[in-house]
Amino acid sequence: MIPDSFIQELLARVDIVDVVERYVPLKKAGANYQACCPFHSEKTPSFTVSPAKQFFHCFGCGAHGSAVGFVMQYAGLGFVEAVEELANSLGMPVPREVGAHSQQKAQQAPLTERMARAAQFYKDQLKASPKAIDYLKRRGLTGEIAARYGLGFAPDDWQGLQQIFDDYHSPALVECGLVIENEQGRRYDRFRDRVMFPIQDQRGNVIGFGGRVLGPGEPKYLNSPETPLFHKGQELYGLPQARKEIQQQNMVIVVEGYMDVVGLAQNGIVNVVATLGTATTGVNVQRLVRLADRVVFCFDRDSAGDRAARRTMEISLEHLVDGKSVEILQLDGTQDPDEFVREHGKEAFVNQTQNATRLSDFFVRKLIQDCNTSTAEGRAKLVSDAKPLLQKISAPVLRVQISKEIARHAQLSQAELEAQCGLKPLARYRAAPPPNRLRPAPNALERTLLIAVLHRPERAARLPLDLIAQDNAEGAALTAVAEAIDHAALAGGNLGLMIEYFRGSPHEEVIAMLSGQIEENAGDEGEQENVFIDSMERLRARALSRQIDELNARARAGTLTTAERQMLTGLLAQKRA
Ligand SMILES: [Zn+2]
Repeated sequence: MIPDSFIQELLARVDIVDVVERYVPLKKAGANYQACCPFHSEKTPSFTVSPAKQFFHCFGCGAHGSAVGFVMQYAGLGFVEAVEELANSLGMPVPREVGAHSQQKAQQAPLTERMARAAQFYKDQLKASPKAIDYLKRRGLTGEIAARYGLGFAPDDWQGLQQIFDDYHSPALVECGLVIENEQGRRYDRFRDRVMFPIQDQRGNVIGFGGRVLGPGEPKYLNSPETPLFHKGQELYGLPQARKEIQQQNMVIVVEGYMDVVGLAQNGIVNVVATLGTATTGVNVQRLVRLADRVVFCFDRDSAGDRAARRTMEISLEHLVDGKSVEILQLDGTQDPDEFVREHGKEAFVNQTQNATRLSDFFVRKLIQDCNTSTAEGRAKLVSDAKPLLQKISAPVLRVQISKEIARHAQLSQAELEAQCGLKPLARYRAAPPPNRLRPAPNALERTLLIAVLHRPERAARLPLDLIAQDNAEGAALTAVAEAIDHAALAGGNLGLMIEYFRGSPHEEVIAMLSGQIEENAGDEGEQENVFIDSMERLRARALSRQIDELNARARAGTLTTAERQMLTGLLAQKRA
């Protein structure tokens, strides 16, 4: 959980104009800025950014929101990631509220400690094993690189770990995946006679191991199982060692094996990590694009490598963010990266990465390979093959680029292709309000007042709160806004701040919906102020009429007290006035 106060502070410091301008060039137009909308295709600008309101809005497709909302929609990020992105750009560390999460961490501590001891044991065993040292030397690895990656050796011994764990029968050893218990209850080490690659989390704790056989045995690679510490689909091998270089180069190379990571590092290519297990996952891609603007996936040039590349492309389409580049590299020849760099050297490998295929090109190339676009049937197949993939893309600019290219090959206009593939404008699609929920009909008066307050939040202080109906979403939201301003929770309030303040609250929906309409209903300042004053007067008149109706009803029933009768007379006079 990110504390609300931090989000308010972040939004007070961030300027939406700077944020949007990082992605979309803006032109000043009066008090606002304008651009062609990044969320739908258009030729004349209908996308505006208001510095006063800290709010963006598109008259064409209806996309709107705060700086956080813009980053979420543009970059296809979740709320937390968008906040992190903005905070990073300002150099603000994101605080976390402690909760169940830290308890979980405390429970994991004994497991982490065991993994650290095992890693040390394997390292010591490596020093004592001439055949393992010889194996690494034949692979061209120096002691320095072996130490940097903490390489070790699991001896050819069924219960080797008994040397360091007196409590070899503790359930913890099974839980962290070091020891296996068979059906007879007999225990033995999971890793035997293998070179050991410790897998570390972001903070450098050992959370799992990969083991590689020295000779021809099977399986060639053996990983730790899923444990409370180790989740294969989330981790990247070699990240702690590669992080600095990844940042410096703003590029990360992703390979399939530990040996490739270590082998490339040995040859001076350090910005390399490996995914664990067989397939690239969405979590992998999200982490990778956060690490660097350029992500190069390296695959073998064979049918398995082809399949892996395609799968990675599909996963990346879903998680790729505009402004980031995912590329696919299949090395010339049949070598894996480790073999390639040992034979051809660093420069040749770097050259290969420079010629990697961008995801959009790879996408179009792979689809066209399977279709004969010189025939109408082939072009129809191209469109139907492309459709499910295009629908997965969450990055608006990327989708436009790829659709244009597919449209060209299919001999369609971009609009025709988008229609045939059922592609909705991305921003509208994301910002669409949830399906109609049952709620009381909107009240016109409260609605008008809420719109006036969204224009200028400070107006909320002037609202007669006791007269606002609470049985409709607009009234409830209006009261909540007034209270937030009253309690200084929305200091220096602007629309962007307000939208984020109410994100996740019961008022989120109505505020988001009405804030999407305010630009369209905006008259000049004076007119807006008149509407606001007029609405407050009508609110008072409405309250008066209701009070009169109530007293009249009791007069007819004959239950009116003398004091109430006097009050009714007074109210009637007030109403006539
Ligand atoms: Zn738009």
